[in-house]
Amino acid sequence: MPGRIKREDIDAVRERARIESVVGEHVTLKGAGAGSMKGLCPFHDERTPSFHVRPGLGLWHCFGCDEGGDVFSFIQKLNHLSFVEAVEYLAGKYGVTLRYEDGEGPRRGNEPGKRQRLLEAHRVAQDFYRAYLDSPDAKEAREFLQGRGFGKAEVDRFGVGASPSGWDGLIRHLRSKGFTEEELIGSGLAVQGNRGPYDRFRNRVMWPIRDLTGATVGFGARRLGDDPNSPKYLNTPETPIYKKSQVLYGIDLAKKDIAKQRKVVIVEGYTDVMAAHASGETTTVATCGTAFGREHTQIVRRLLGDVQSPAAGVVLSDGRAPGGQVIFTFDGDEAGKAAARRAYVQDQSFAAQTFVAVDPDGKDPCDLWVERGPEAVRHLISSRVPLFEFVLRSVLGELDLSNAEGRVQGLRACAPILAGIKDRALRSEYIRQVAGWLGMEPREVESAQQSASRERPSQDTRNADGTYPASSPGRRPSQVPTDPASLSERYALAVTIQHPLDVVGAGFEMLEADSFSVPTHRLVFDVITANGGLDSFLDELSKAEKEVGVGSNSVDLAVRRWGEHLLDGLDRSARDQVTALVLTDLPVNEGEAGAIRDYAQGIVRSLVRRDLLRQASNLQAQLRRSEPESEEYKQAFIQLIDVDRKRRAYSDLS
Ligand SMILES: [Zn+2]
Repeated sequence: MPGRIKREDIDAVRERARIESVVGEHVTLKGAGAGSMKGLCPFHDERTPSFHVRPGLGLWHCFGCDEGGDVFSFIQKLNHLSFVEAVEYLAGKYGVTLRYEDGEGPRRGNEPGKRQRLLEAHRVAQDFYRAYLDSPDAKEAREFLQGRGFGKAEVDRFGVGASPSGWDGLIRHLRSKGFTEEELIGSGLAVQGNRGPYDRFRNRVMWPIRDLTGATVGFGARRLGDDPNSPKYLNTPETPIYKKSQVLYGIDLAKKDIAKQRKVVIVEGYTDVMAAHASGETTTVATCGTAFGREHTQIVRRLLGDVQSPAAGVVLSDGRAPGGQVIFTFDGDEAGKAAARRAYVQDQSFAAQTFVAVDPDGKDPCDLWVERGPEAVRHLISSRVPLFEFVLRSVLGELDLSNAEGRVQGLRACAPILAGIKDRALRSEYIRQVAGWLGMEPREVESAQQSASRERPSQDTRNADGTYPASSPGRRPSQVPTDPASLSERYALAVTIQHPLDVVGAGFEMLEADSFSVPTHRLVFDVITANGGLDSFLDELSKAEKEVGVGSNSVDLAVRRWGEHLLDGLDRSARDQVTALVLTDLPVNEGEAGAIRDYAQGIVRSLVRRDLLRQASNLQAQLRRSEPESEEYKQAFIQLIDVDRKRRAYSDLS
């Protein structure tokens, strides 16, 4: 049987097949600042170039359709090839001889029956994990499930199991059933290591992920024990039978009721799906390690039958909602708001049927099930709010509507959202609501909405079948901000990710998520701090210096590894945000000595200064509002002194 291509040969191909020349055969690239090139995207229709290539990093990214990756993913996507096929294609083209792990020659395409074999391997694996859950060694897994209130009925219904902590428990079992090395790796159940394949999932609770037909195509797995080196959640990688953009956990059990009740509930985790079903919300599903995207929409839409009622998107006084309902639950944080806005942007006709349910205490359905029982889960879901209302409220929630300036900003922010509501009756209802929240005349709000509509005359550019053409404005998740304040946030984050060493000493640690005004910037900042901030980069650097010596090589290596850590475990949309920043061109001549450091220090310092000012003026406003002598006044005063001290200390440094 043909085996896997040796790691070092893959690296050799990557080295030889320079991204700029591979891409350059298909796209005319022009220089776009030092270290960067751009051209027209081959994956969507466009007139102005938004397809960027960074030869130094070996990466490409399109800011129009948000596709991106390395030289192999470019060829995969362009020619519809698997990873291995892309490596073989480029190896042939650039004269690299490939060696395979067990010394065999190149392999052919998918043999017939391969899919069947992979499904069979998953069936065997599921039985194996399920049986292991009942063994004496799986005590911790059983306690995990019992601790969340799941008994035998739920465990059996969802086929939950557990994986042993050894390295080869499953693969020995699969081999004994006649599965080949290639099938072990190809199924994603095993990982190719230096000394042969080993079990991908070790010491975890295992949830089989099934397709619409009920066949297991992959697994979601949660870590047991507290090994900090192993990710808390781990899913099957992309395989011929598992595409995370197309799977929904629980869909096999929920599909009948989704069609019957014309309702689907989307939660965030495997235990949330179990808790919701156990509470009687049998139309509940979850995405697996990625955000709810367009392909998920299509699956759900097919099940709902997509018969749209003109009155969809409102909750009637008796609690019913006409038309199909898509209900998203979020645990109430910023990520939830961002996700809701994205759902809104993604597909306007879907948006009219979409509702958001957020628990005021930030609890997810599983928390509610454990702490307050099934009624609490059902209550969360019935407390849903139409997506339009949720988005409008969350936009306004970020503004101070107590002054005229804030209200005008609010009007400006709401106008394009209102303009996006296609149904006229629904739109005028929301115009009236927004007018109420802003304390304005409905006529004022309506005229703002009308001019927003004129600015974007072709709101709906969908094809007849409801899909978007490749160049649709409906899919621009990483729009580049244009106002100076958001731009400097963006550049400060971009330079931090691209040149962390040059940022050290500028006061990056003094920033907090609230220092950023754009939600996606906050998200990226959280990713950086959650990974240990610049300290973790410096750790990488000292490791790299031990390996390759002090100098620019070790810095490059550390930057690359640190960047990989930042991307680890992020969902698709967060990944896209971070990648977009990696590829952002900095307005500085990267070739000039010291230019980057000067730029990095300058932009981060100006952000810190701006933020200290923001904190001070917030506190001053709070002082004006509160009674002198009150506890609130005292607290604000103490904090203001502290911020002032920081400002002085910081300007001494700058
Ligand atoms: Zn594109």
